[in-house]
Amino acid sequence: MPIVSKPASPTPERTITLTFSPGERGVGVFRITAGGKSHFYTFCEIPCHIGGRGYAVHRTGVGNLYHVRVGTPSECSCECMGFLRHSKCRHILGLQALIANGKI
Ligand SMILES: [Zn+2]
Repeated sequence: MPIVSKPASPTPERTITLTFSPGERGVGVFRITAGGKSHFYTFCEIPCHIGGRGYAVHRTGVGNLYHVRVGTPSECSCECMGFLRHSKCRHILGLQALIANGKI
């Protein structure tokens, strides 16, 4: 009997929403929704002297803190498992989208 492989599932649509704009204190909140699940992240821009813009990103309620760098492709990095495995992640893509749309 032939083995029929299932087609790869499509990547779920992912959206990011700036739910609280960084004010004078520089701390904001965004929400990433993917596959019907939403997670909130508190973020703060931090100085970055090696290229790109740096952010401390904390997934609210879980305690994971990631240092994310966004810029040219060679300037992008993140400490999360997604980036370590795929060289891209929701944190970088989300922050890039917020920057590209003038939100932050
Ligand atoms: Zn990441």
